[in-house]
Amino acid sequence: LVPRLRPFTSTIFAEMTALAARTGAVNLGQGFPDTDGPAGMLAAAQEAIASGINQYPPGPGRPELRAAIAASRARYGTAFDPDTEILVTVGATEAIAASLLALVEAGDEVILFEPYYDSYAASVAMAGATRKVVSLAEEPSGRFGLDVDALRAAVTPRTRVVLVNTPHNPTGTVLTRAELEAIAAVCVEHDLVAITDEVYEDLLFDGRAHVPLGSLPGMAERTLTISSAGKSFNCTGWKIGWVCGPADLVAAVRAAKQFLTFVGGAPFQPAVAHALRAESAWVAGLRDSLQDKRTRLSAGLAEAGFGVRAAEGTYFVCADVRPLGFTDGLQFCRDLPERVGVAAVPVQVFTDDPDRWRHLVRFAFCKRDDVLDEAIARLRRLA
Ligand code: PMP
Ligand code: GLN
Repeated sequence: LVPRLRPFTSTIFAEMTALAARTGAVNLGQGFPDTDGPAGMLAAAQEAIASGINQYPPGPGRPELRAAIAASRARYGTAFDPDTEILVTVGATEAIAASLLALVEAGDEVILFEPYYDSYAASVAMAGATRKVVSLAEEPSGRFGLDVDALRAAVTPRTRVVLVNTPHNPTGTVLTRAELEAIAAVCVEHDLVAITDEVYEDLLFDGRAHVPLGSLPGMAERTLTISSAGKSFNCTGWKIGWVCGPADLVAAVRAAKQFLTFVGGAPFQPAVAHALRAESAWVAGLRDSLQDKRTRLSAGLAEAGFGVRAAEGTYFVCADVRPLGFTDGLQFCRDLPERVGVAAVPVQVFTDDPDRWRHLVRFAFCKRDDVLDEAIARLRRLA
C-alpha cells in the first residue's frame, strides 16, 4: 500500500460492526436503519428490474432521476439544469471522492471540520492533497458549533476547497444560517470552492430547517452540493448519490467519476426518482420518528450515566464517557460489546486531535424502539 493510504487500512465502522457481530452486541455503531424505505420505492426498483432497466445507465445518470433531483433542490430556492448541473454518483461517497480528485492535487489544501466523516481524509489523501483541520467548538449547551476564527486561521494561499457537512456526522450539529454565512464569507473572500455533504438534509429535529451553503449569496457559482438517497429513504445499501453545482465544476467531477465507476445502480435510479417526487410524507414521518428516537436514546444514555450532547439532526448522538469513570472512548468502544453487549463508535478516530475528542463516543439511534430499549437496558449495567 502506498504510504499516503497507510493510515486508512480499515474503517472504524467495519471494525465495530464485526465486533458487534462476533459478540452478539446491539449495534449502535455503524449508522444504518433496521427498517426498509417506502413501499412504493421498493416496488419501483423491482418493477425497474422486471422491465429490463439492467444495463449501463447514461453517464450523468438517468434523466428522470436528474429531473427529480433538480425538482427536489427547488425547495431551497436553488435551480440546477438537469443536463449540465447534476451528476448521479455511486453514493455520496463517490461524489466526495470524485469532487476532490477533480479539484485538488499535490500542494493543494482542503479544509475539513473535525470530527470529520472518515472518507473525507482518505479522499483528500487519494487526491494527493493535504488536509487542514479545524475543530468544531463545544458550546455550553452541548452543541458543537463553528469556530470562525479557527476557520480563518486555517486558510493559506494553498487552500482550494472547504468541505462542509450539515447536518453533521458524528456530532448531530445542524449549522445555523449565521454559521453558514460566515463560511460563505471566507469562501468568497479567498475564492475557494465549497463542497457540501448534505446526506442528512431531511433529518433535522425540533423544527430546524436545512440551509444549503450553495443557496447563500455568492455561493452558487463556487459550491458542489452532494447528497444521496440512503439516509432520506432508508436505503443505505443502494448507493445512489448525486452532486449538483455549476456546469464547469460538475463537468470536472464527471471527468473523474467516469473512470472510478463510470455509472452505477441502474434499476435503483428510477426508484429513487419516484421517492424524491412522491415520498415526502414518508420522509416527514421518518424525521419525526428519528426525532423521537433521538429523545429516547438521549434520555436512556443520561439515565445510564453518560454526559449526553445535543443532537439537532442526523442518526447520531455523542456522549461523554468520563462521568462513568472511563477516559478513552476508543478503548471504551473496544470493550463495550464484551462488557455489556452494545457497540458504539469512538469520536476521536474522526479527528487529527484525539486528545481533544477522546472522551466522546457516538451512538446511532436509527434503530427500532425495541432495539434502542434493549441497548439502554444493557448500558444501564455500566453504572
Ligand atoms: N457523508 C456522511 C456524513 C455520511 O454519514 C455518509 C454515510 N454514512 C456518507 C457521506 C456516505 O453516503 P453514501 O452511503 O451515500 O455514500
Ligand atoms: N455513514 C455511516 C456511519 O457514519 C457508515 C458508513 C460506512 O460504514 N462507511 O455510521
